[in-house]
Amino acid sequence: MLQPFQSNTIIEPFRIRTVEPIRFTSMAHREDFLKKAGYNPFLLKAEDVLIDLLTDSGTGALSSHQMGSMISSDESYAGSSSFYKLEAAVRDVMGFKYVIPTHQGRAAENILFSRLARPDDIIPSNGHFDTTRAHIEYAGAVAVDLPCATLKAGPFNGNMNTDALEKLIMEEGKEKIPVIMMTITNNTGGGQPVSMSNLQKVSAIASKYGIPFFIDACRFAENAWFIKTREKGYEETLPIDIAREIFSLADGCTMSAKKDGMSNMGGFLALNDEKLAQSCKSLGILTEGFSTYGGMAGYDMETVAIGLYESLEEDYLRYRIGSLQYIGKKLNECGIPLIYPVGGHAIYLDAGQILTHVPPLQYPGWSFNVALYLLGGVRGCEIGSVMFGSQPDGTEKPASHELVRLAFPRRVYTQSHADYLIEVILSAYEQRKKLGGYRIIEEQPVLRHFSCKLLPL
Ligand SMILES: *Cc1c(COP(=O)(O)O)cnc(C)c1O
Repeated sequence: MLQPFQSNTIIEPFRIRTVEPIRFTSMAHREDFLKKAGYNPFLLKAEDVLIDLLTDSGTGALSSHQMGSMISSDESYAGSSSFYKLEAAVRDVMGFKYVIPTHQGRAAENILFSRLARPDDIIPSNGHFDTTRAHIEYAGAVAVDLPCATLKAGPFNGNMNTDALEKLIMEEGKEKIPVIMMTITNNTGGGQPVSMSNLQKVSAIASKYGIPFFIDACRFAENAWFIKTREKGYEETLPIDIAREIFSLADGCTMSAKKDGMSNMGGFLALNDEKLAQSCKSLGILTEGFSTYGGMAGYDMETVAIGLYESLEEDYLRYRIGSLQYIGKKLNECGIPLIYPVGGHAIYLDAGQILTHVPPLQYPGWSFNVALYLLGGVRGCEIGSVMFGSQPDGTEKPASHELVRLAFPRRVYTQSHADYLIEVILSAYEQRKKLGGYRIIEEQPVLRHFSCKLLPL
């Protein structure tokens, strides 16, 4: 009898049929590009980047099935068949009755919180994403994060602290809490997953107090995979059935289809309450467009209708999460400080631990990220004191962490890209003592990381 063959190679579950060349540059060129960009990777031209890990949002590759559907999309202003396909897919996978399309995730947040949140209301979450927080605050309400744990530790680090949730409801009163949110996976908390049992607990608390429960569903498929592979009782359950169970616990969701919608653009708000749906729909017409397109082209709606299923395919998720775990494991074995185990969509390097000789307000995360570009043409994103250090009163204080996020576009890079990335990180790590800090020479008062200019110290 032959022994079944076990491979240790990550086989990308696709053949490549259309290719997009990426450009090799010399270190001298990259030094020059950086100088011109004020040492800000956001200001580099994408064509000067070899491996672009700035974000996983809208940067994925479409399947041939999705491409084909784009040709036959219905671009009618009202009643487009592409919308009805999207609506049917959302109802099938997520189970919500009303589907309101939007141009991307934050537009769904804008509509929801404009309708639900009043001044001084409190909206708790396991971890609000930054656009979610901004829309809550824009509506005059307060966004509260109730994470369960620290950045390092167990299988479901994205969970909400449910004791803290009940305490908050008791202290503030349920009238002040118009909705409870859960972000899956928890992007702000390092892309860490949330367990089904935690979702059940939060859902039960929400029901007990009669508070609506909404899910920020951007990476629902990745979260479903973590439940399948880490939570007892789900080993044999299909990701799509796990997703259906997750959403059955909630009253609605906001979605950026640029993530697990596997699209380059789009999003939606989906919910069960008829009255709230009608009022959200009319606001959507005002801000997004008529309710059968809401800021999306017919072909975007086609790609999302298919993408919601493709993101839940087991072969895809095994490759997707497996690739990240492969990189994380190798880096961890080499002693590179990172958030470990890794989450769903990104590797978070702990630059504060790597560049211990660079003080927080000389931006170690920024420095290490720039080094990755200089050495290897890799572009990541600092999540540290450049992003979060600037205070409303004009002063500066260190962020809680100095991280470099390497976020992976879906279905774009292969295992050899991953191996190359590991080599670049190791090279930067070995030369870490030569890396210095930066100072900001030009900045905007809000969201300065997108446009600031810096100089090496
Ligand atoms: C990306 C993201 C959003 C916002 O979606 P956009 O499509 O970028 O507007 C909201 N929540 C989470 C968790 C996200 O990752």
